[in-house]
Amino acid sequence: MIAAPAFEITAVPALQDNYIWIIHNDRHAAVVDPGEAEPVLAFLNAHRLQLEAILCTHRHPDHTGGIAALREVYNVPVYGRRHPGNPHITHDLREGGQLKLKPLGIVFDIIETPGHLNDHLAYIAPGILFCGDVLFGAGCGRNFEGTLAQLHHSLQRLAQLPGDTRVYCAHEYTAANLRFALACEPGNPDVQHRIAATQKLRAANQPTVPSTIALEKATNPFLRCTHPEIISTLQQRGLTDTSELGVSELGVFTALRAWRNQF
Ligand code: FE
Ligand code: ZN
Repeated sequence: MIAAPAFEITAVPALQDNYIWIIHNDRHAAVVDPGEAEPVLAFLNAHRLQLEAILCTHRHPDHTGGIAALREVYNVPVYGRRHPGNPHITHDLREGGQLKLKPLGIVFDIIETPGHLNDHLAYIAPGILFCGDVLFGAGCGRNFEGTLAQLHHSLQRLAQLPGDTRVYCAHEYTAANLRFALACEPGNPDVQHRIAATQKLRAANQPTVPSTIALEKATNPFLRCTHPEIISTLQQRGLTDTSELGVSELGVFTALRAWRNQF
């Protein structure tokens, strides 16, 4: 007999295009990246849930803006990577650490995922990835701090998770990212299918995430830097970073990120 899942994960839309993820059972909840307090409090009240923890992927205001107001109501721990620019963190998490949410029966492995901001973390449990602004549906975050090599490395680590891992990212950017993915790989049928599926979901006002690691590997150009069609598209656009071994993977990634910035 398969046990019923101990918890659910619900998307709460916030701000322009953020998703705040609420992990909950019928009594307890934890919230990931509350950029606003109000919609979280409304959800908790509507479902009579007790907030137990706040998880932070990185310090950008659209991920932390609701923490202070939530803590006026629920004096709960705030987990994340401590940083001078983030006064909210009460429990510092680091690479290789774990976070146990006992009331929800969930244990996260923590990895550091720099390349968007230096303090960016990912929370990983079996079948579940909270990846903030590093990996998006069909795209990746901008490189505000650190190097593109760090961002590339962070994405490569996430890509190594099992294919059925659900990808809970923090923004609804999938449709715009897929337009770019199609420009990179006009001949990729998985991109074409995902565009159709995404249009359907958005027309019904549904989130396009979580996706899965397998779907990202099939459609996300930033996880496909070795694919010949992407390399040839970039070469037609004048990518000249060639070594004796051919175009380097980081060279392709760098060219993709630069193109996406002005796409
Ligand atoms: Fe963000
Ligand atoms: Zn961010």
